Amino acid sequence: MEKKIFLSEKDMPRQWYNIQADLPNPLPPPLNPATGEPITPDMLSPILPMNLIEQEVSTERWIDIPEEVLARLVMYRPSPLCRAYSLERFLETPAHIYYKNEGVSPAGSHKPNTAIAQAYYNKKAGVKRITTETGAGQWGSALSFACNQFGLEVKVYMVRVSYNQKPYRRIMMETWGGKCVPSPSPDTSVGRKYLEENPDHPGSLGIAISEAIEDCVTSKDTKYSLGSVLNHVLMHQTIIGLEAEKQLAMAGEYPDIVIGCAGGGSNFAGISFPFVRDKIYGKEIRIIGVEPTSCPTLTKGPYVYDFGDTAGTTPLLPMYSIGHGFVPAPIHAGGLRYHGMAPLVSRLLADGLIEAKAYNQLDTFGAGITFARTEGFIPAPETNHAIACAIEEAKKAKEEGKEKVILMNWSGHGIIDLPSYDAYMTGKLVDYAMPDEEILKLVKDLEKFPKPRLA
Ligand SMILES: *Cc1c(COP(=O)(O)O)cnc(C)c1O
Repeated sequence: MEKKIFLSEKDMPRQWYNIQADLPNPLPPPLNPATGEPITPDMLSPILPMNLIEQEVSTERWIDIPEEVLARLVMYRPSPLCRAYSLERFLETPAHIYYKNEGVSPAGSHKPNTAIAQAYYNKKAGVKRITTETGAGQWGSALSFACNQFGLEVKVYMVRVSYNQKPYRRIMMETWGGKCVPSPSPDTSVGRKYLEENPDHPGSLGIAISEAIEDCVTSKDTKYSLGSVLNHVLMHQTIIGLEAEKQLAMAGEYPDIVIGCAGGGSNFAGISFPFVRDKIYGKEIRIIGVEPTSCPTLTKGPYVYDFGDTAGTTPLLPMYSIGHGFVPAPIHAGGLRYHGMAPLVSRLLADGLIEAKAYNQLDTFGAGITFARTEGFIPAPETNHAIACAIEEAKKAKEEGKEKVILMNWSGHGIIDLPSYDAYMTGKLVDYAMPDEEILKLVKDLEKFPKPRLA
């Protein structure tokens, strides 16, 4: 009856799993919005190094993790797989609930798994400096940690409201030597334009992306980096599921249900893709991506071509989307605010290999508090979505009297998100589900683009 299943460092996976090798239907290509033609790899070379572009389009099943990357991953990996005995007892469920604790990384989430890999490949390609955007700061802090490890400069454009309201992530970035500025900033022409209109502009993720990309393409030896959505990012996260697979086998278990929260899709892909592969080859297993009802991409959005960013500057990606014009409700505290979903995750949903569920924010914070009061650790608000689903499935197992094995990804801790817990506990949060009419209005704009092929 072990609480924590540790994999030894020497048994840490040495390859990433690339699900593109096993897809029943290949991914539709990204498209140039001006011409409707597929984007070729070399068109991405102004913003990404060629070695990462190669990974983005690769269909090799296994890709070696370089030694220099393994040497950094081992700072916190293999991450423990924990059996949630206290939560099980509290729920009086016969289900076995396992959570993979990605909160043990320096940045406190799964994000360093790809940040380390991306910093390494940029360094190897001769890049000296990386630009990126960040909302609440989780990605900016993970990338700052990773760039410091490889001696790269990093500049993070952080949405101004978050920069002002949530200083702790910025302080983490600076502690690791990263440079973080509030966006819009006077450092780019896009930023200056918005500041002229309004010197106190609150900023948005769309503006921050535009600034990071402008800085990248106008600076020497500089590339741009993304923390989720893209194929290579999801692949770097598969080390989570590959470890979990080995750890469950050590406990003599195999999951009936795999659960992850889904914003851009990277931690969900990380825990689930190795198990999706089993499902493709005939295993019976349920795989559930969980999102907020206030940003119901997978549960309410259509499968379309849409821009990857809010400003409409990126190639068109084939994905479930509620429209790039989406603006998160101000009351929403749980993260997972991206209007689209990773093309790989989208494709699996379109092909019926995964399921999706949405939860209201009060239910997710309630689940997070139940977790904190049983298992002790305070989860990130994003992670609470996965926990809400795991609890619901464990209750179902009780009703059915079945000893189901549930595996969830515990994507990060919530120690830097305590103000949102405070808002919940003092009754300041309310539920908000995005109305169908609102979604229809936002996706109407996408009818002019081609439809991704379904099979
Ligand atoms: C960023 C983040 C997420 C959402 O991003 P994905 O790409 O969907 O994984 C979820 N949980 C935590 C803790 C995060 O930091």
